[in-house]
Amino acid sequence: MKFCTHCGKEVLDDALICPNCGCSVQYDENPQGAAAPQFTAPQPQHTAPADTYSTMSILGLVLSFFTALVGLIVSVMAYNEAKNTGSLKSQSMAKAGIIIGAVEMGVGVLSGIIAGIIIIAGFGTLGALAII
Ligand SMILES: [Zn+2]
Repeated sequence: MKFCTHCGKEVLDDALICPNCGCSVQYDENPQGAAAPQFTAPQPQHTAPADTYSTMSILGLVLSFFTALVGLIVSVMAYNEAKNTGSLKSQSMAKAGIIIGAVEMGVGVLSGIIAGIIIIAGFGTLGALAII
């Protein structure tokens, strides 16, 4: 089937004149025929789905700000998921979550040790004062 270039009405392939508007369709190349798909049809096949941040990677990053351990675990899971799906954005997002979670874990452990030392030192001082 081809279409009239003047009124858009479907006309027979061998028709010379459009039965609807009477215009000549003799030289009308089928707009949806052989020539057009070479330019239009291959595009959807070559266009990869848009790379987006996965929900898991976003969740991991957000969680890493609040609870380092949970954020770290979710980010690692998101990173593995992103590697499977091949999403580079999700991988980088998950990496950020892992780094932030790991840093916070480190800070948390460090501050725990420091707090422990202060408490022990404080009790030690109290003990020393009690002896005196
Ligand atoms: Zn027509």
